[in-house]
Amino acid sequence: MINLFSSKYDVENCLANIRECLEKGWTGVGEKTKEFEKVWGEYVGFEHNIYLSTATAGFFHTLVCLKELNGWQDQDEIITSPITFVSANHSILHAGLKPVFADVDDTLCLDPESVREKITDKTRAVIFVGMGGNAGELEKVAAICQKAGVYFILDAAHMSGTKLNGRVVGNQADIAIYSFQYTKVLATAESGMVCCRDERLLNSIQRKAWCGIDKSRTPWSEVNKDRWYFDVNEIGDSSLGNDIMASIALAQFSHLEEEIKIRNRIAEKYWEGLKYIEKIGFIRIPDGCCSSRWLFQIVVENRDALIRYLEERQIYAGIHYLDNTLFKPYRYARGTCPKAQYYSERVVSLPLHLKLSEADIQFVIDTVAEFMETQ
Ligand SMILES: *Cc1c(COP(=O)(O)O)cnc(C)c1O
Repeated sequence: MINLFSSKYDVENCLANIRECLEKGWTGVGEKTKEFEKVWGEYVGFEHNIYLSTATAGFFHTLVCLKELNGWQDQDEIITSPITFVSANHSILHAGLKPVFADVDDTLCLDPESVREKITDKTRAVIFVGMGGNAGELEKVAAICQKAGVYFILDAAHMSGTKLNGRVVGNQADIAIYSFQYTKVLATAESGMVCCRDERLLNSIQRKAWCGIDKSRTPWSEVNKDRWYFDVNEIGDSSLGNDIMASIALAQFSHLEEEIKIRNRIAEKYWEGLKYIEKIGFIRIPDGCCSSRWLFQIVVENRDALIRYLEERQIYAGIHYLDNTLFKPYRYARGTCPKAQYYSERVVSLPLHLKLSEADIQFVIDTVAEFMETQ
């Protein structure tokens, strides 16, 4: 059986880190969390970093806090992609803002021209997804945002370790949000990180992600001199990360660079094995981008039949993603993004993870080729 995803953990080092936490009797936000925030922030080039229970919580708190800090109104607009995991789009709605869908280009990331067309005087931010680790035209979209004076938020859920012109992708954006969910390139069980330059935003997220608790003041004073007091001026939920997840993240982080090389080699083998087949399309990766290769996607006409054919041979493929405007909360935008619709009906993600053997990779290539001959 060849799964779409399967994470390879450094079991010994994960367990050694977790053991330290358990023996100390502290599994909440502590040293491991702070250490991971520091090493990850240095890696991606941001000064202010907060480790959370999920990336989804990161999107929600980021948008709610930006709205408050900047005085945005309900229904102010956030430009976003229809080809993505629904998480960031749900967060826009949760925050009382309006998702405005721009189309994708052949990188499956937002098309800069479409973004430019969708900007209005109500636009407050653009959320750019680095699909499968691809940087797409990220720098062009960043420049458009800067010119328009709107926030550039990077959904970097697939981008742990993606590089652009030799530099780790992150601080090209105002805010980058990473996911360390169990299938992602840097896998824990569930966790995520918000990285930003604005300390006020970070403090605001910090409070919202722990029930509105403000340790810097008391109900009767602007300054808290006694660590056992705190004030609460706003509501929040409980979505901070913890030292158990950070223990796994730290152990996995030390293998990230080497793992991305392996992922790229697998992607290269798929490409070499399939590029001769005329009826298969591929996703464009711009020059200068070294993708983290969370995904290897192909584009075919008879997509469901291919997935079924693979499944009958115990190869499990996937779809990333269905056009979000097919889903009820986003139906109002259906038909506005023709390219997204095209890819939504045709993309297939082939198995890509570190447990694939040479024989597995060849079997996937041969099986796809065999299917394509019947087309
Ligand atoms: C996985 C994913 C998320 C959500 O990450 P969680 O940590 O699971 O909340 C958001 N956006 C994209 C594009 C993703 O793939």
